Amino acid sequence: MARIDLDNLAHSYFPDPKGDEDYALRRMEHVWEDGGAYALLGPSGCGKTTLLNIISGLLTPSHGKVLFDGKDVTNLAPEQRNIAQVFQFPVIYDTMTVYENLAFPLRNRGVDEKRVHARVHEIAEMLDLSGKLKQKARGLGADEKQTISLGRGLVRDDVSAILFDEPLTVIDPHLKWVLRRKLKEIHNKLRPTMVYVTHDQIEALTFADKVVVMYGGKVVQLGTPQELFENPAHTFVGYFIGSPGMNIMPCNIDDGAAWIDGQRIALSDQQLTALGKASGKTELGIRPEFVRLHTEGQAPEGSIEVNIVKVEDLGQFKIATTRFGTTELKVKVGEDQQIVGQSGFLQFPQEWTKIYADS
Ligand code: ADP
Ligand code: MG
Repeated sequence: MARIDLDNLAHSYFPDPKGDEDYALRRMEHVWEDGGAYALLGPSGCGKTTLLNIISGLLTPSHGKVLFDGKDVTNLAPEQRNIAQVFQFPVIYDTMTVYENLAFPLRNRGVDEKRVHARVHEIAEMLDLSGKLKQKARGLGADEKQTISLGRGLVRDDVSAILFDEPLTVIDPHLKWVLRRKLKEIHNKLRPTMVYVTHDQIEALTFADKVVVMYGGKVVQLGTPQELFENPAHTFVGYFIGSPGMNIMPCNIDDGAAWIDGQRIALSDQQLTALGKASGKTELGIRPEFVRLHTEGQAPEGSIEVNIVKVEDLGQFKIATTRFGTTELKVKVGEDQQIVGQSGFLQFPQEWTKIYADS
């Protein structure tokens, strides 16, 4: 297994790219540690598949390098890179049995039959395929075929990394949970470097130790699920991770505070120092979980008066939509907290109030 370095990587599908917008990947500079379980998360079209194909060698980047354990592999063919890749749709041979399909990547590399037998049975056991090894793949359902594809990705134990490109998209939701848990178990046991591409935050957060969030051809943050939740480095991360995502509002910075729609939200010295002399577009972000809504008693100091436009009761919590001026802001309220009347006061705890400049 290997550590993967991306060195100033960029890719354009255009023969003669003009500006940034012609690039599917822009200036990627980062590292996947050996043995890590990484999720690559981002919306459709942000460059996830492009990046995976560059790592596996299906695509040559326009600029930059890919290194495995420090060795430049940018110009090596896929078969010379020692990578296993699982795609969105099953890639298996219908005329072969499940056993032969799982054995294929090993036999292809001349592994002896004793070892093939042991490995195929081990992987089949992990993926609940043991009872089907003698069946032809042709008669199997889409879920089973994709499970075999996963098995083919996992069967070699000498690969540098295993890349999964949205492998559970076609799978039934219940089986999805099961397989995701299995992949995690397999990772814990065998410790391959795994990169798992998805556009589904739940999938990313349950699978990975570290999540790489991509947006517009760039990595905008690499962190643990908790870091992404508590400290989004970019408004996109705030918005994309969490349900509902972070409240993000344009603001002006003046007199030690952020101003939104004429309302003052005091900032800490630390926040102000971090901002420096930032000018231009500034936004304030706060998660619905962290902003506090008071609907009883006196206005707390430094709070903002709001109207409550809507309350959605989701069982374990409520989501209140509040408004001041033309600004709307969502608040997650515990099931035990009463919402009284149609107005209230919002408080912005400083440690959870983030300011984004030019993001
Ligand atoms: P993702 O996997 O995150 O959905 P992709 O890597 O497939 O994103 O695509 C990134 C960008 O590159 C998109 O704008 C897409 O339209 C473009 N793109 C992808 N593949 C090709 C291709 N073969 N030719 C031209 N443009 C492509
Ligand atoms: Mg894709």
